[in-house]
Amino acid sequence: MILVTNNEGKVGCATTATGLRNGNHALDAIESGIRIVETDESVRTVGRGGFPNLVGTVQLDAGVMDGTTLRTGAVGAIEGFLHPVTIARQVLERLPHELLVGPGAERFAREIGAEAGENLIDDVRASWERWFDAEVPDDRRASWPDVPLADLCRHAIDPEVGRDTTVFLAIDAAGNTCAGTSTSGWGWKYPGRLGDSPIVGAGFYADSQYGACACTGAGEMTIRSGTARAVVAYMRFGADLREAVDAAIEDMARLKTGLISRVTLHAIDTRGHHRAVAINGTHNTYWYWDPTLEHPEERETEIVQVSPRTFESRAKP
Ligand code: ASP
Repeated sequence: MILVTNNEGKVGCATTATGLRNGNHALDAIESGIRIVETDESVRTVGRGGFPNLVGTVQLDAGVMDGTTLRTGAVGAIEGFLHPVTIARQVLERLPHELLVGPGAERFAREIGAEAGENLIDDVRASWERWFDAEVPDDRRASWPDVPLADLCRHAIDPEVGRDTTVFLAIDAAGNTCAGTSTSGWGWKYPGRLGDSPIVGAGFYADSQYGACACTGAGEMTIRSGTARAVVAYMRFGADLREAVDAAIEDMARLKTGLISRVTLHAIDTRGHHRAVAINGTHNTYWYWDPTLEHPEERETEIVQVSPRTFESRAKP
């Protein structure tokens, strides 16, 4: 058994570890932990309390994968529901589909009786209003939000605006290797933008024969290079966990443009190894548990430098 979550998983990881210790399926343990993160308003990038998109609406993404059945469930750009991870899980359990978005995902959420609720909290609304007052040109205010938005997207890459995700990777006592994600995505994103967190193969992937990977940071990068699937596929073709993660980072460096310095990979293998690696990052931590530990431990994320010669960030002046 093993559990790895990113730093945002702090409030939920003990619940997941207890679930695993009690013999629960890894998907159940992951879902129960992520629900706690989604509830915690102090986590500004997941669930209630998350940052809104450009028009001030919180749109949430989440995904889960069962590495034994290789089934996934995900929802994207869903509004007005408190626990996207549970809706994603029910996509896996009840539908012949893997991903629902927008109004269709909301319809399904109502149909299964998912908890509805407002995810925009006052503090965060005030922060969006400050941005609106400072940045939205006067001539667009009268007809807001039915105005061109594309040029305002530059603010979605503003490093001052929070963005993150919670990612959970776990192997249970029966050897089921699973992954789960949940996020409000980038603050000030274009409405309808999906990051990698609901995209199987980009933001998360799990295979009970080899291991699992989930990513945080600029989802655009891991979508472009299929990062989570790549890590697991490289292990399938003989790489060890270290080599697999390094190879997936090299794949991303080959993209040349984009926000590579905003990506962190979390990965586990079925032999008990794990890595949490931030590309060109600053100090950060993740949470780790296995049955030798009474409680999950906070550990330091590894940082790898990807050469600026092989990578130019489009976001930098
Ligand atoms: N990966 C998330 C996204 O692209 C955000 C993040 O983890 O920073 O929506």
